[in-house]
Amino acid sequence: MAAPVPIAHDVSNLRAHLTSWRRAGEIIVLVPTMGALHAGHMSLVQAGKSHGTKIVMSIFVNPTQFAPTEDLSTYPRSLEADVAKFAEAGGDLVFAPSVEAMYPQGFATTISLAGPATAGLEDKVRPEHFAGVATVVAKLFNQCRPDAAVFGEKDYQQLKVLTTLARDLDFETQVIAAPIARDHDGLALSSRNVYLSAEERLHAPALYRALIKCAEAIKTGQPVEAALEEARIAIAAAGFAIDYVEARHAETLAPLDQVSGEPVRLLAAARIGKTRLIDNLAL
Ligand code: AMP
Repeated sequence: MAAPVPIAHDVSNLRAHLTSWRRAGEIIVLVPTMGALHAGHMSLVQAGKSHGTKIVMSIFVNPTQFAPTEDLSTYPRSLEADVAKFAEAGGDLVFAPSVEAMYPQGFATTISLAGPATAGLEDKVRPEHFAGVATVVAKLFNQCRPDAAVFGEKDYQQLKVLTTLARDLDFETQVIAAPIARDHDGLALSSRNVYLSAEERLHAPALYRALIKCAEAIKTGQPVEAALEEARIAIAAAGFAIDYVEARHAETLAPLDQVSGEPVRLLAAARIGKTRLIDNLAL
């Protein structure tokens, strides 16, 4: 069995661990999560290990990134099992603050964003989401002062928002991107996949399959909008209600009508039953 991993529940306890590590010359990598850990989160831990010597995972279901209509109260929570998985993966410290520790009475500061945060993708459907994400990540960066932090390409727009945040506000933390971990049939792993019924789970990989087909069509010269429209039709036929299926510049997330050598990312979000899935693919 793996050695038990200490859990810090507040910032002073967190800093007590980090200060002694920093003095000993350790390189600290933060992996921010909302828990309900799966193999995708574990792949971030492994990616982190090639960038540092101590891996800290934050586990915090951040209320400010959920809209009142979203699943904050039902979001899966499993701290004990999460800590065991993280220990098994060779992690070093869990930071699991309470909501009160993160947002004390009178908390009044939010980060305001433009650029990739207002690209018209997730932000179109979840207008307050990235302000909540950026605010909590800025807090985590200040609380941990990690040398590096790992984020998944699964949340591609979030990755771009946070890379921009770190650059614009001069955080010394290097933002590292990790590729999407997928199930055997291509479905991107997500804590929210537990919401899928057996029937929905069967149809869910259609989202990824449509993106692959779309990428191939564009690469072989089909006009971008026509390829996207075919993807939308295939995704809808699998039982999804579509939020967006788009081709964007992979760095700026600016819309693209045609491709001419720039890096391209296909991004999609769609709901099947009560579950909202997102996915994306490099062209
Ligand atoms: P979450 O717990 O959903 O907030 O995710 C925490 C981190 O794990 C984020 O950086 C996500 O992008 C990343 N992540 C979630 N699912 C996956 C996946 N299937 N592959 C890679 N990274 C992921």
